[in-house]
Amino acid sequence: MPVTYWCEQAWLPEGVTAGVLVEIDGPRITRVARGEPGGAHRLPGLTIPGMADAHSHAFHRALRARTQTGTGDFWTWRDRMYEVAARLDPDTYLGLARAVYAEMALAGITCVGEFHYLHHAPGGAPYADPNAMGHALVTAAREAGVRITLIDACYLTGGIGTPLAGTQLRFGDGDADRWASRAEDLATAYRDEPDVRIGAAVHSVRAVPPEQIPVVAEFSRRHGAPLHAHVSEQPAENADCVAAYAATPVQVLHEHGALGPRSTAVHATHLSEADVELLGHSRTHLCMCPTTERELADGIGPAREVHDRGSPLTLGSDSHAVIDMFEEARAVELNTRLATGRRGHWTAAELLGAATAAGHTSLGFPDAGQLVPGAWADLVTVRTDTVRTAGASGLEAVVFAATAADVRTVISGGRRVVEEGRHVLGDVGELLAGATRGLAR
Ligand SMILES: [Zn+2]
Repeated sequence: MPVTYWCEQAWLPEGVTAGVLVEIDGPRITRVARGEPGGAHRLPGLTIPGMADAHSHAFHRALRARTQTGTGDFWTWRDRMYEVAARLDPDTYLGLARAVYAEMALAGITCVGEFHYLHHAPGGAPYADPNAMGHALVTAAREAGVRITLIDACYLTGGIGTPLAGTQLRFGDGDADRWASRAEDLATAYRDEPDVRIGAAVHSVRAVPPEQIPVVAEFSRRHGAPLHAHVSEQPAENADCVAAYAATPVQVLHEHGALGPRSTAVHATHLSEADVELLGHSRTHLCMCPTTERELADGIGPAREVHDRGSPLTLGSDSHAVIDMFEEARAVELNTRLATGRRGHWTAAELLGAATAAGHTSLGFPDAGQLVPGAWADLVTVRTDTVRTAGASGLEAVVFAATAADVRTVISGGRRVVEEGRHVLGDVGELLAGATRGLAR
């Protein structure tokens, strides 16, 4: 049975439009037209397509605010993160991820790219089902009402030339062939499931030796699957890479077949001029995670330059210090203002396009992120009458004024997941409190 929604305002490919009827049949949009509400379900506010969080590590949510004492850098933060990773099993991870993905749904996210490397039991022994953790993440996403691209990460070394140690043993499969065999089982398990994609990742050049990268790239080619990698997040990573291979991380990925339109470079903060050209020329997606990059003192990447050479921009909340795609979107612009002393690097439409169509495409859902017939029926209505948004107008009100708390309604794949700011699972704050208890000091 088709259902029709009437949007007071909707962001269509041609711009923000008043009075739009969106007809949905099952998980897809079947018709979009201007019109009167009639008997349609009314969506007061500004309706945008569902957003894609293109880079998530669900378990990092347990660290929110707990790392905001003392001093340190990325590497001291990582030690705290490993302590959380050490405590999870498939049951507790299911509960945590379900709550985190429900928080995402409340923020208007209808698809998550889960960059997944917490594969095995403590010490590195596989669970009875070696993909138990991955299956838990898929179940969590479904229960929370978001689609998932499970980006299964190959993670083999603790640093360049350094074996895995401690908690890292849980991340490793031994070599890329064994990683591929486990990932192949996942791809088979979800082959006929339209709401799930299995992607691949080279965790980073720290964690995957160059000669192993082609195996991961070949998995991506064989399945037409997204291929993601953390790239040049920290200067030390670049220095180690250049010392070992006489090449930057981007060059190493390029030389081993890991760049291209299916690929996504996450962070890409510290790039050379040659790196910018390689990423842009290959049409590799760029995933910026500004709230995490500022949280971890990474730096401000040259997003505009890489985008202008050909790379589509996408956004991720990564460590979940914040889950708010509007904040990620405006931070790309506002950080660049701080770095350059100039305003107006990105338009609101470009930034929201990164959070919607481009993000979904980078996750293997090119048919999502736009309010057009045939697309996934993902609708997010943002209130325009709150203390943050009242008096503002246009797309700028959403990108530069709204927060996740202003999301009123979320329809994800045709399913009403959030109504009047409440998730169908109930009190998500309570779910998060229960799921994070005891995980972090
Ligand atoms: Zn990450």
